[in-house]
Amino acid sequence: MTVELLDELEAGELSVEFEGEEPEAVLEWAYERFAPRIAISTALQTDNIVLIDMAYKIDPKVQVFTIDTGRLPEESHQAIEDLRDRYPGLDLRVLSPDASETSAMVDLHGQNLFRRSVEHRMLCCNVRKVRPLTRHLAGLDAWITGLRRDQWASRTNIRKVEIDHDHGAIAKLNPLAEWTEEETWDYIREHDLPVHALYAQGYTSIGCAPCTRAISANEASRDGRWWWESGAPKECGIHCSVESGGLEHELNALLGEHA
Ligand code: SF4
Repeated sequence: MTVELLDELEAGELSVEFEGEEPEAVLEWAYERFAPRIAISTALQTDNIVLIDMAYKIDPKVQVFTIDTGRLPEESHQAIEDLRDRYPGLDLRVLSPDASETSAMVDLHGQNLFRRSVEHRMLCCNVRKVRPLTRHLAGLDAWITGLRRDQWASRTNIRKVEIDHDHGAIAKLNPLAEWTEEETWDYIREHDLPVHALYAQGYTSIGCAPCTRAISANEASRDGRWWWESGAPKECGIHCSVESGGLEHELNALLGEHA
């Protein structure tokens, strides 16, 4: 069944309507409108786990997807298994980068190219994360994220209902936009949800093993991501377009050759 996509006017009106509403209200509307061509994206962090818990109560067969970049810490693989155990029947899909694209990139720049420059890091994020995501979203009419306004400067203006122009103008829903980090932890504790083991080691934002570290008391929650870079956005391109600068042409050549 084809679902009519949202336009900017409707997305804006819905965002106003849902402001101040609980996340469940957004989820219930979203599944009513878009199921079954809707999925929750998870990087196995607390925000996504909260959303999965809420959505599972609406429909235990909701689709959830995560991207195994090939560089995840072992604790992330365990977190995936914890989700399967906690939510039987969940439609949990683990996406992978295209092997030929990854291989071409590594042949050219090495496994740890992300240490060389911001552009190399963005190339790696593009091949390992953004492109698998884009391929998956092509089969959906809406996706749900755990983005919150308090996570980073680039996220302060997110709305609960948006049009994702980077991915075919499908709907992008951010039900937790208004929540604080503390509210997500309150929900986690109240419902005794499984949490990624690295939180207990001082991590506050979790991604690939070589690009994520624990933070110290005076650092912001995403300071542990790509900590060696200065002045670059703490984004991988999944939630906003990020220019990959000097390697843009190389990305096209690399992927054009091996896609
Ligand atoms: Fe590559 Fe690091 Fe991005 Fe993971 S976070 S895709 S290892 S650059």
